Amino acid sequence: MMIEKNGTSAGLKIVYTGNGKGKTTAALGMCVRAAGYNWKICLIQFVKGSWKYGELEGVKRLEPNLELHTVGEGFVGIVDDDKDIEVHKKAASEGLDFASEKIKSGEFQLIILDELNVALKLGLVTRESVEQLLDNCPDSLHLVITGRDAPGWLIEQADLVTEMTEIKHPFQNGLPAQKGIDW
Ligand code: ATP
Ligand code: MG
Repeated sequence: MMIEKNGTSAGLKIVYTGNGKGKTTAALGMCVRAAGYNWKICLIQFVKGSWKYGELEGVKRLEPNLELHTVGEGFVGIVDDDKDIEVHKKAASEGLDFASEKIKSGEFQLIILDELNVALKLGLVTRESVEQLLDNCPDSLHLVITGRDAPGWLIEQADLVTEMTEIKHPFQNGLPAQKGIDW
């Protein structure tokens, strides 16, 4: 993190992790706030199949400030996935290269790497490649990484880490995912 002369900070590395609901929601909230300052925002989703309907349509309202991307080969080992793990690894590593280009471009004030922690946990991307990406961040860039199971070394390197803790979730009572709340 860089501390400016007037004491305000720039270029935060932010991690939202934990088992409770709200990690991607928090990142989307940051996009709304950033758009208020006319910042350029890049939102990249790793691992999952595609952005859910609500956020896909909702963030369109933040255009042209925000651009949205999905990288990788979708769900890994669940839903209807029957792809070889090497296919997922190649796609995730290409996704990380794509994110790295966006980071180095200097075009954005806020970049979100949604579910990158999950790609790390699944071994689709390496610690070294993510560390390199962190090292290449322009001083002024705010970078947000979300997903369960953030590794200790990432928590160590981040400036702001919040762990969402599940206290109650309607899923425990058998309630399925809700329109407008979960998707
Ligand atoms: P959200 O996108 O709602 O902010 P999240 O990013 O914190 O959730 P993920 O691990 O990405 O959580 O899980 C994605 C989906 O699983 C979402 O539909 C979310 O509502 C749901 N979910 C998140 N946490 C829980 C939980 N503790 N129990 C059941 N479902 C959950
Ligand atoms: Mg999420």
